[in-house]
Amino acid sequence: MERVRVRYAPSPTGFLHIGNARTALFDYLIAKHYGGDFVLRIEDTDIERNVEGGEDSQSFYLDWLGIVPDESPEKPNPKYAPYRQMERLDIYKEYVDKLIVQGDAYKCYCTSEELDADYNRQKEAGYASTRYNQKCFHLSDEEKAANEAEGKPFSVRLHVPENATYTFDDMVRGEITFESKDIGDWVIVKSNGIPTYNFAVVIDDHLMEISHVFRGEEHISNTPKQMMIFEMFGWDIPRYGHMTLIVNETGKKLSKRDNSIMQYISQYKDQGYLPEAMFNFMSLLGWSPKGEQELFTHDELVAEFSEQRLSKAPSMFDVTKLTWMNHQYLKAKDDAAWLAFVRPFAEAAHDLSNKDEAWVNTMLLLYKEQCQYGAEIGTLIDGFFNEPVLGEAETDVLSWETTGAVAKAFLASLPTDWTVENLKEAFNTTKTETGLKGKPLFMGLRVSATHQSHGPDLMSALYLTGEDVIRNRLETYVNSL
Ligand code: GLU
Repeated sequence: MERVRVRYAPSPTGFLHIGNARTALFDYLIAKHYGGDFVLRIEDTDIERNVEGGEDSQSFYLDWLGIVPDESPEKPNPKYAPYRQMERLDIYKEYVDKLIVQGDAYKCYCTSEELDADYNRQKEAGYASTRYNQKCFHLSDEEKAANEAEGKPFSVRLHVPENATYTFDDMVRGEITFESKDIGDWVIVKSNGIPTYNFAVVIDDHLMEISHVFRGEEHISNTPKQMMIFEMFGWDIPRYGHMTLIVNETGKKLSKRDNSIMQYISQYKDQGYLPEAMFNFMSLLGWSPKGEQELFTHDELVAEFSEQRLSKAPSMFDVTKLTWMNHQYLKAKDDAAWLAFVRPFAEAAHDLSNKDEAWVNTMLLLYKEQCQYGAEIGTLIDGFFNEPVLGEAETDVLSWETTGAVAKAFLASLPTDWTVENLKEAFNTTKTETGLKGKPLFMGLRVSATHQSHGPDLMSALYLTGEDVIRNRLETYVNSL
């Protein structure tokens, strides 16, 4: 069997988002599943659309996600380099010339005004789709020579074969067929001398010995154009697969403009999502394992993943599930690793600089079970830094008669030596003296002492909040009764 080589070929027209990353991940998993190579190629020929930092974002966040290329612009294999299309213009030129000599491509001198006028004429005549009228294909040798002598700008068009059929067995969707009659002679080199995506991609996929092309479904209609070039050169055609859309919870295609869902990998990193959770979560966006298992390590995914169980239906981006998954990975860390991960997020939200290390660690660890992603720690520990605002639920608890009794009894039994053990004892005394139990006792104390109705282990929270604040809150409350 030939070596499996799969490429992920982003255009640096934006930063790495969920859609790209899922494509890259599936490319990577197929390559690794078959013991092959995963190649990162930068398709930067659409120079007006390239954005500053686009390529860096792709490389950096792929590495962060653990989708690490075997070959890339930074890690070139001399046999296939360079890996940026704009560095391969000489290579393309050679193949464009070949096609022209073969009669499969020709120079087109039509201006955009002429083309627009003709397309408008076709539209007015009721044509379902417009296409190039082949004017320049029919130029006489004299006309060609005259244009050449004049130095007229030109593009290069592929002469689409007549009555040809292009069929491929899509790894996701099965057999797909296109007829050449539906495709007009299309531009392979723009008038700026730079080849178009559909041309360059074929030259590169061939020269880089790509065996499987696995990409977004928006490229299905590009496939026949690419196949015709493979055929004109007599090259083997790779296997194609087109992934389904990723949709949001209302079934709409994820759009970069949709602000209700974070779209960029950088945003997830900044919010404290773990790369291994993202990797796992994205693997299930359009692929399903055999059983019910949802949590997979990198190696398990490489072993299980194949082109067989790819879904034909759009995959839903379920943020709740991602957060759940991240939570599982996060709390599975040991305490030291967990603290090292969340501490920067806590520091970003609150000033910890003059707090005792042990105090900080104990406080943070109170939330180890609860914290779903790094940035959430900032909110969870807020009550230790800012006086909580009493909501409806808390005001209600403070209005119970039993809460007054609990607060009084607890205040009276507060220990002189402020330890968790002694606070527990004060709590037991309160319980005996008031004769209360259950919600009136626990909620009453929690809300009157912490001003919050939810929180971590109560005695630890009281201990960490400190004697002054607790005493003060209880006194103010008791005095107000
Ligand atoms: N540069 C193309 C894109 O970003 C890649 C398409 C392909 O994989 O062939 O959509």
